[in-house]
Amino acid sequence: MAADFAATRAMFQLPDGVIYLDGNSLGPLPRGAAERVAACITAEWGGMLITAWNRAGWIDLPRRLGDRIGRLIGAEPGTVVLGDTLSIKVYQALASALELRPGRRVILSDTGNFPSDLYMADGLVRTLGQGYELRTVAPEAVEAAITPDLAVLMLTEVDYRTGRRHDMVRLIAKAHDAGALVVWDLAHSAGAIEVDLAGAAADFAVGCTYKYLNSGPGGPAFIYVAPHLADRVRPALSGWLGHEAPFAFDLDYRPGTGIERMRVGTPPILQMAALDASLDIWDRVEMPDVRARSITLSEAFIQGVEAACPTLELASPRDPEARGSQVSFRHPEGYAIMQALIAAGVIGDFRAPDILRFGFTPLYTTMEEVEAAVGILAGIMATSAWDRAEFRTRAKVT
Ligand SMILES: *Cc1c(COP(=O)(O)O)cnc(C)c1O
Repeated sequence: MAADFAATRAMFQLPDGVIYLDGNSLGPLPRGAAERVAACITAEWGGMLITAWNRAGWIDLPRRLGDRIGRLIGAEPGTVVLGDTLSIKVYQALASALELRPGRRVILSDTGNFPSDLYMADGLVRTLGQGYELRTVAPEAVEAAITPDLAVLMLTEVDYRTGRRHDMVRLIAKAHDAGALVVWDLAHSAGAIEVDLAGAAADFAVGCTYKYLNSGPGGPAFIYVAPHLADRVRPALSGWLGHEAPFAFDLDYRPGTGIERMRVGTPPILQMAALDASLDIWDRVEMPDVRARSITLSEAFIQGVEAACPTLELASPRDPEARGSQVSFRHPEGYAIMQALIAAGVIGDFRAPDILRFGFTPLYTTMEEVEAAVGILAGIMATSAWDRAEFRTRAKVT
């Protein structure tokens, strides 16, 4: 059955007078999430107190939600678990992958990666010592830089600035041939494009849920470990809820079965309640339909902007297959232009040094909105409405 995007849009609470093209950074509020969180607070926390861990199933939420997300990223049942933030999950996946390649010392990543992923890798390298090394090359040079000394290839599939997409299947095959493992960051992939972790023979993957998956600010991250590795992984962040028997309170750490061992501490139940409700919307669609619609919307946006705004330069790949679900344009005054756009009711965001970024999220973005956004942007560019001091003042979050 074809996806009914009018029905999914009605399941979000979107402010009047706003065209939201930033769901790639923070998804909007699903109506069901407001209700679910309220019920979780009042009926579960308020009414059941600590018994809710069993009676409301809180303790199993990280696994149950993992399976719901697994469907969207081609993961086998029982291979995904929720918890912590994405930066933590990057560290955890990378540490585990390195430990599975004890004779090797090199982590390879690219200069288009999100800085937090590189910072976490750098911190891990400093903690490990022993000659570990983080090597970064340009995104286009990754394939050629896969050498036999590589322990782990750590990449974000879709570039947060340009939307450029790595060839996951090809890079995994190349890395495996060289004897390395691969850690994928799916921050801009989960809910954005079709991902087939099992089919691609992925080893580790991580991602966040507050972008395309709409779990709200600070929503928990997820981690995937391939079934053949899950029971061999030794968690570096060996918290009690990843223990084989947390309530035995043993003094010695024994990892839990499979993906359970990637849990760390007490999960954020209120955020998970929001995510659970958000995933009810995702259950109504299939990723190929979402992807097809995303391409239709983003192609229309590119055509419209290129026709009406000659000074904006496309920073994303022109081939939709080589992009994620966002489109970026460059302009030296990108920050001020984005502020003017936001003031006019079109919300995208800015990424230094000169990127205007727009996310396309078929669950709630319509073609009429895309066309209207192009018109508003064209007006701002034609009149230089952005050229005002108030639009140049940088806020803490861009
Ligand atoms: C959004 C994003 C993050 C953010 O990490 P948090 O720990 O959730 O703040 C990390 N890596 C990538 C690639 C991202 O896109």
